[in-house]
Amino acid sequence: MAKYVYNFGTDTTDGDATMRNLLGGKGANLAEMAKIGLPVPAGFTISTEVCTYFYANGQQYPPELKAQVEKAMADIEKTMGKKFGDTNDLPLLVSCRSGARDSMPGMMDTVLNIGLNDKTVEVLAKKSNDERFAWDCYRRFIQMYGRVVLDMKPKCKTDHDPFEELIDAKKKKAGVKDDSELKAEHLKELVTEFKAAVKKQTGLDFPENPMEQVWGGIGAVFGSWMNDRAIVYRRMHGIPHDWGTAVNVQAMVFGNMGDDCATGVAFTRNGATGAKGITGDYLINAQGEDVVAGIRTPDHIEDTLAKKMPKSWEEFSRVAMILENHYKDIQDVEFTIERQKLWMLQTRNAKRTGFAHVRSAVDMVNEGLITPEMAIARIPANDLTQLLQPVFGGEGLKGKTPIAKGINAGPGAATGQIYFQPDEAEAVWQKDNNAKIILVRHETTPEDLRGMKVAAGILTSTGGAASHAALVSRQMGKACVCGCDGIGIDYKAETMTAAGKTYKKGDWISVDGFSGNVYEGQVPTSPSEVLQVLFSKTLKPENAPMYQCFHQLMSWSDRYRKLGVRANADNPQESEQAISLGAQGIGLTRTEHMFFDHIDDFRAMILADNVEDREKALEPLLKYQRNDFEGIFRAMAGRPVTIRLLDPPLHEFVPHEEKDQEALAKKLGISKEKVAQRVNDLKEFNPMLGHRGCRLGIVYPEITRMQATAICQAAVNVLKDGIDCHPEIMIPLAGNAMEFKHQESIVREAARKVFQEAGVTADYLVGTMIELPRACMTADKIAENAEFFSFGTNDLTQTGLGISRDDYGTYINEYQELDIFPADPFQTLDQEGVGEMMKIGVKKGTKTRPDIKLGICGEHGGDPASVRFCHQLGLNYVSCSPLRLPVARLAAAQAAIAEKKEKAECKGSCSTDSCKDECKCCCCCCRG
Ligand code: PEP
Ligand code: MG
Repeated sequence: MAKYVYNFGTDTTDGDATMRNLLGGKGANLAEMAKIGLPVPAGFTISTEVCTYFYANGQQYPPELKAQVEKAMADIEKTMGKKFGDTNDLPLLVSCRSGARDSMPGMMDTVLNIGLNDKTVEVLAKKSNDERFAWDCYRRFIQMYGRVVLDMKPKCKTDHDPFEELIDAKKKKAGVKDDSELKAEHLKELVTEFKAAVKKQTGLDFPENPMEQVWGGIGAVFGSWMNDRAIVYRRMHGIPHDWGTAVNVQAMVFGNMGDDCATGVAFTRNGATGAKGITGDYLINAQGEDVVAGIRTPDHIEDTLAKKMPKSWEEFSRVAMILENHYKDIQDVEFTIERQKLWMLQTRNAKRTGFAHVRSAVDMVNEGLITPEMAIARIPANDLTQLLQPVFGGEGLKGKTPIAKGINAGPGAATGQIYFQPDEAEAVWQKDNNAKIILVRHETTPEDLRGMKVAAGILTSTGGAASHAALVSRQMGKACVCGCDGIGIDYKAETMTAAGKTYKKGDWISVDGFSGNVYEGQVPTSPSEVLQVLFSKTLKPENAPMYQCFHQLMSWSDRYRKLGVRANADNPQESEQAISLGAQGIGLTRTEHMFFDHIDDFRAMILADNVEDREKALEPLLKYQRNDFEGIFRAMAGRPVTIRLLDPPLHEFVPHEEKDQEALAKKLGISKEKVAQRVNDLKEFNPMLGHRGCRLGIVYPEITRMQATAICQAAVNVLKDGIDCHPEIMIPLAGNAMEFKHQESIVREAARKVFQEAGVTADYLVGTMIELPRACMTADKIAENAEFFSFGTNDLTQTGLGISRDDYGTYINEYQELDIFPADPFQTLDQEGVGEMMKIGVKKGTKTRPDIKLGICGEHGGDPASVRFCHQLGLNYVSCSPLRLPVARLAAAQAAIAEKKEKAECKGSCSTDSCKDECKCCCCCCRG
């Protein structure tokens, strides 16, 4: 019989940490904690397979499930020594929580205190000797069950919450401010009123049968896998929709049974900075959701728990360290102290900032807890960009006093306009993707995710370092200050007050996620610590601890990676920066960028209407280009430099406004009609498929000749100064071997002439960009002459998918919302389509020329998933913008480590005869 239910903490524990695909992260870790002897309330996990079944079968369960759940409930009863629905003795109550393979904090639903009804609540009151506690549990249960299972939660921000309205009315009547001041009799009245509200809104009586309640909870949790916020979250984090969630049913323990009880969440190291030592939030006499919901500002564990509950603190620190050592990673734990006894409710690898990722991983290697390989493998490569982001400080902060200070929860410095409503923030951003928004809220909830996603920074008035706002912003890498009780927010008036001043919606503020400070207006930023060491050299490495960790991680990465890394850089300064960030060469210099500095000379060349005039107009350009290339070659000091010949259509360089055309005509001493006529002649319906790339050099060979001459002369000058130099001259947009040959012969002839005249020869290559599907299909022919290929995946995506890279903004969001595209294909390589074309290009190219140099220079060269693909494809290098280099270095090391691991685990099942490239076996001949 199929097994769908796995016990933990009962007489037997069926699962362990390796079973997260089946049991979800929470379930697998609960089982693991129970296995290693930590105090876990007994429970069971319904596997993710049931979720898959549920959605494939019209939201029905497999027939075997009922009996398995009933048996598991009996096991919990036995272990906990309590009976579910007991009307004589202290009843067993259970919680029902979600738990996906990858944690999705707060995105799905939870129901607590299941098992309470009009009878069991009386027993709970009597046996716990605390009537208020029992009735508070009951009213919380009805409220939660009503919202989650009976769908009574508000559907939008303006909808009223029937339960909150009743609580507010009760507090008003009782003359109290806080929920905790309501007495048992008020809570009893609330229970009656809540039930009436349920009946009114759903037409049903609130279920009294505890087993019916359990099934209600299970159904709601499975149902929440497909709620909007969970879908949005999965899309943002690349979690497949077909993974499904598990459901965990677990005996309740109580942190709200008096002042010797508490509940909290903690990190074994700081999730914002990575610094050693437990940090976290807790509340005495409270239930779990109170801590994370941000409604009450909790205490910091590290500050006060040792004083208030010394024994529990000691036990908790011991357990926290056992967990960190066991999992060899920062743990994010949930716990409850019930009458001084510690219970662990969850552990998972903590979500953390890029800073915390790097610092903790490097520290753990130095502590001997993990290996450098493990450190490299666990850091999301994209998170490294956080370390290079600007910060507030230095000159920009001069004369500025913070208007408020909160908890420094999310990294980064953000300036933006205040918005209070997430929906409005999203609408503003949809109109203008460059809008800078600071989302200001009392606290955030999972419903606010879309607004948080578009905000540059998040500011909340309540909630601690483990509140929803803190966790989610940290993961998104957004600046966040939370628990900022110095600000007052009035949603109705759309105002925020701080330091005695009122700020309206749309006013500018700045939030510093490193210090927790909030400033009025737009604070200018200064470079990150890493860039102060590497670029401006205003900081010494020995005074920059974050830089030291970064540097350590990068040198480990370089030790493991097989892929080379190069930068796309157009001038000496970018080249130097690229080297300081680890570039081993330049993979793309876009020569046209240089022409913008001498635009009128370039325009004169475009306006020339015969070869003679054009050649004359090219003379000054030759000089400029030679200087530019020389600067780059000197900066690169012998590293290879790929220079692409002119690529964009010429109409991009000419003035389109009448007054600008007139000014140009005057400058060149020609008529404005002639300028206008030429501009008009250059117009194309589809310029990206028009007269561009090598087509320019074919029609105007003198341009190619001038550029090749400039490159070779620059190389000669540099070589004469004793500096090594390796130019790689790249023909753009060739889709046909004849196009390449035509351009190659011009380049080689120019080179021959330069070297002969100078008496010095540079070691240079001539190759091409592979940017067209036809270039992939005919790569064997192109490789007869081309010495290298560089995949221009921006254009290859454009031409392969038939999508204009400039105009896809109007529908890409829709495509991603509908999961037609798993990711933006201009950011993450479409491996299934464009990737297949690349495979063909590599295969055909290497067949003709086994030692052909292979690289990529499209934007994908700095995208971790694409870098991994390039590693698997066997490219020699990836090239990306300088600031993406650390990401590429780490991603390349991760790809090499993953491959090594795969090879070690591979059973070698490939049979070459039947393989035909389809084999997934890692040691297969087809994958090299
Ligand atoms: C490309 O097409 O991938 C590329 C790098 O060239 P560009 O972006 O300049 O068209
Ligand atoms: Mg291109």
